[in-house]
Amino acid sequence: MKCLVGIDDTDSSKGFCTTYLAFKVASQSSHANFRVFGYPRLVRLNPNVPFKTRGNAAVCLPLETEEVKETFESVCSIVERLSDVGNGANSGVVLLHDPRTAPYLRTVYLAALHGVVNKERVANQLRENGVPTFQLGNGMGLVGAAASVTFDESYDHTYELIAYRRRDFWGTPRRFDPASVQAMDRRTSPDTFNNYDYHKERPLIAPHGPDPVFLGVRGSTPGTVLRAFQMLRYDEDLEGHMIYVTNQGTDAHLEHELELPLKAYSSGWLEGEIVAARPGPGGHQYIHLISRGAKVDCAVYEPTGDLNRSARLLIPGDRVRIMGGVRRPSARHGKLVNAESIEVLSLARQRTMSNPLCQNCGLRLKSEGRAKGFECRRCGWRAREGTKRIRRIPRRLRAGLYLSSPRAHRHLTKPLIRYGREAADEVYPLIDGWLRSFISVPELARSP
Ligand SMILES: [Zn+2]
Repeated sequence: MKCLVGIDDTDSSKGFCTTYLAFKVASQSSHANFRVFGYPRLVRLNPNVPFKTRGNAAVCLPLETEEVKETFESVCSIVERLSDVGNGANSGVVLLHDPRTAPYLRTVYLAALHGVVNKERVANQLRENGVPTFQLGNGMGLVGAAASVTFDESYDHTYELIAYRRRDFWGTPRRFDPASVQAMDRRTSPDTFNNYDYHKERPLIAPHGPDPVFLGVRGSTPGTVLRAFQMLRYDEDLEGHMIYVTNQGTDAHLEHELELPLKAYSSGWLEGEIVAARPGPGGHQYIHLISRGAKVDCAVYEPTGDLNRSARLLIPGDRVRIMGGVRRPSARHGKLVNAESIEVLSLARQRTMSNPLCQNCGLRLKSEGRAKGFECRRCGWRAREGTKRIRRIPRRLRAGLYLSSPRAHRHLTKPLIRYGREAADEVYPLIDGWLRSFISVPELARSP
């Protein structure tokens, strides 16, 4: 019998990782009473919620088994063993036979992408529908676990190969050759993405924390991410790797129009006309627009790099679509939209008033003060007040889409090279090498 097992919130801010747990479960499958029949799904949820761990990721394993109850129990025991409950993990596990029997779960997925989901409501729905669940801590992970089982290849999707470190290496520097990352990027882009930051000259494939992830290669097909990974040179004995199908790089969280008045922690987009734009402390750019008759505040933070530089060129009268997440009010500002990307829909004409030119020598006249007219500093020629000219200034911005720099991308951010390369409804079978585990099963049984 085929079933889907969703797992979420097993990690904490101090390390571990829900994907590592999924890798452990899948690695055991050759010696267990279940097998994995499709790519495990790595499902990113609303990055703008406050109570997430680092990446706000859930995973779903498509498993085939004749012993559903035993399989669920063995997955739960691995979750129990590997969840970092002591450091704040609130794990949830959900088992579903057929997602088509649970259309309400699709709503849970979409809600968990765009907003904040009430855990009790989801728990009740699961209970009413007889869906087996398991939870640790406060069980908040049930929401992500339930959401993850309805994400599949019918949505736009990408793949990621994640390589895992042996336990003795956790917390030590990751040793790989950045030049090999550049070479891989040049040979595989645009079929892979976000490999290397050419501006800051550093690889983007590896995290920096103490977690078990060595590196991840993101791309458009399972074959591409595997080939790209094999091009990398590294100096560490790995525990193995696994390829996931994922909603990363799809902007899935930005598909809905934001509600007005703004709801804290929601993600989406809104359109409007800019009424004010000004830089603030720290190099952040603040934009105020009128959207559906309401005034909305937006911030384009300095770390967004390219996006921040483009937003500095916006002026009142420009029409924009702003995509991002709603921050809760703070002491300094009310609710505002933290922009993740901006589409400039139309540009206002930029004009400036300038002093007249000297009729004698062509120099631009200086103002003599309010209502006192103008005088030439070179020849003394004078002009009356009221002869200022309107000058049109060419805009340094064009209509179009503006994105943040790759280093500021979130997992869900759709990179520029994916526009026009969306991949809904494209399904690949499991390829040779989709899963490699170099740790023997007895060793696995002993690991905590
Ligand atoms: Zn003059």
